[in-house]
Amino acid sequence: MQKETIRLSKPIIGIEEKNAVLDVLSTERLGMGDVVEKFENQLGKLLKREATCCVNGTSGLHLALQACGIGVGDEVLVQSLTYVASFQAISACGATPIPCDVKAESLTLDIEDVKRKLNPKSKAIMPVHFAGDVGELDAVYELAKSNSLRVIEDAAHAFGSSYNNKRVGSFGDICCFSFDGIKNITSGEGGCVVSNDKNVISLIKNARLLGIKNDTEKRFGNTRSWHFDVSNQGWRYHMSDIMAAIGIEQLKKLDYFIKRRRKLARLYDAIFLQNDKVTAFNRNYHEVVPHIYSILLPNETNRDQLRNKLLDVGIETGVHYMPNHKLNLYKTNEISSLKNTEEVYPRLISLPLHPGLEEYHIEYITSEVNKLLG
Ligand SMILES: *Cc1c(COP(=O)(O)O)cnc(C)c1O
Repeated sequence: MQKETIRLSKPIIGIEEKNAVLDVLSTERLGMGDVVEKFENQLGKLLKREATCCVNGTSGLHLALQACGIGVGDEVLVQSLTYVASFQAISACGATPIPCDVKAESLTLDIEDVKRKLNPKSKAIMPVHFAGDVGELDAVYELAKSNSLRVIEDAAHAFGSSYNNKRVGSFGDICCFSFDGIKNITSGEGGCVVSNDKNVISLIKNARLLGIKNDTEKRFGNTRSWHFDVSNQGWRYHMSDIMAAIGIEQLKKLDYFIKRRRKLARLYDAIFLQNDKVTAFNRNYHEVVPHIYSILLPNETNRDQLRNKLLDVGIETGVHYMPNHKLNLYKTNEISSLKNTEEVYPRLISLPLHPGLEEYHIEYITSEVNKLLG
């Protein structure tokens, strides 16, 4: 038996991140300053577009929606099978998240269901790049274009992933990443927004600092605004230099993290190919950087019992996700259109995946899963 529990996910933090934080602490300037500016410049170079950092991924989504003018009376089409953060960001604007179904083979947004739910109140589509897979993103953009909708990509899982040989974030309308502790790279907490809409970026830059106009530039010079004007509702959503210092070190390790994640997910896929009780997703790892590794269990398996048994042998698991249309705040009785979500949710389980795992961990995890499934 496994002595230490294998964690579902975790950050990989080295001496470099620790020293970088100590360096910031020694400057006695802990807020948003030139370290955030440096992190944004590096992200911008990678994504070929200006990057704007914020305190977490959820705040990035909220800022992006607000900058698009989305508010009370508006609807945003989003898959129900996502973290509640996507839904909360939408309702934070006063808008209504409309839960849509996912494709059974990828757990990404089902465009056909989005089409059914389109109406004059629809203002934006929020595709969630589940497990790093963007799904039918071309179709999302086509539909958005023909209906004058904004697209706000929830790319919290997809930092490092590509689509049609282009890095996620380097194209499209608005793309929001998360750098929380378990994402593909971390800045402790944190996130960033990229867009080629200069107006949106300018609104976001002000809104992340209480709506104070052009305060970003001041902060990057390690000063702040004393005489200022405010025209829009803002928030304290900026990133701190402590966080950016971690992010800068993590960026240097991105290629290694990507390589490890892909290698481990491919090994999972290859082993589960031999077990017809397990449905794996076999994603295209030439483009996808697997953020989580979810599988579908057989209908008859008691998922929660299996999770307990796996924990007994030192394997932590997760469920991505509790569908949002089942939550009190977002409840809907109209579930006939959410067929795949309803069908897959009770069978979904996520197995450990992070760059700190070795091949022998995957062999151990898969052999325990196979054993328990009989
Ligand atoms: C992590 C996550 C978010 C939110 O990011 P935070 O940085 O945790 O606020 C949003 N959507 C999805 C799908 C996520 O996994």
